[in-house]
Amino acid sequence: MSASRATPLGPGPGDRARGGTPRVALAELLAGNRRFVSGQPVHGHDVTAAAASASGDQQPYAVLLGCIDSRVPLEAIFDQTFGSICVIRTGGHVLDRAVLGSIEYVVDVLGVPLVMVLGHERCGAVDATVGALRTGRRPDGALAHLVDRIAPAVTEVGVDDPQVQPLAIRRHVRRTVAALRADPILSAPLAAGRVAVAGALYDLSTGEVALLDPP
Ligand SMILES: [Zn+2]
Repeated sequence: MSASRATPLGPGPGDRARGGTPRVALAELLAGNRRFVSGQPVHGHDVTAAAASASGDQQPYAVLLGCIDSRVPLEAIFDQTFGSICVIRTGGHVLDRAVLGSIEYVVDVLGVPLVMVLGHERCGAVDATVGALRTGRRPDGALAHLVDRIAPAVTEVGVDDPQVQPLAIRRHVRRTVAALRADPILSAPLAAGRVAVAGALYDLSTGEVALLDPP
């Protein structure tokens, strides 16, 4: 691609962007996670230079929706640099109108071919939801909004299931993926194969990202 700025640190921003396929984007993202897990990241050494390199028009190749959890910094765990990925983080990766609008923009306007929803184990937002459902006490304030959005996944698993936490996280990721696939703005590029929506889980202990439903 003409925007290529390949460096000894690996591909630069825009190298795999607009016009790339979902399959290539997913492979690139997972390759970055393998570099991270193996302790051989190629990005992150010179962030000042990387910022300057990416300061023109942005051409990211993926948009990620993840949790706010401080142990799950998305650019780091996928070994991505400035300009490579768009990142949206909410408690329990809750999808609401603002998040959906952001994803529609990235797919529709920027032409990004991959949307990934990334859940993680021991998610505090899922814990809060399980607690709220077990006690019948809805949290005060806007936290209730997060709990309400996660509650269907917990209820589907069964709030008293001993494995409710890990199972509800998976269910919640799959429900979020399904909601994105049902979005009217995303439906045309999805049907045409120009974009894919993938769900994945991050392992806090190993740093590995595993696709929930590999293609
Ligand atoms: Zn979380």
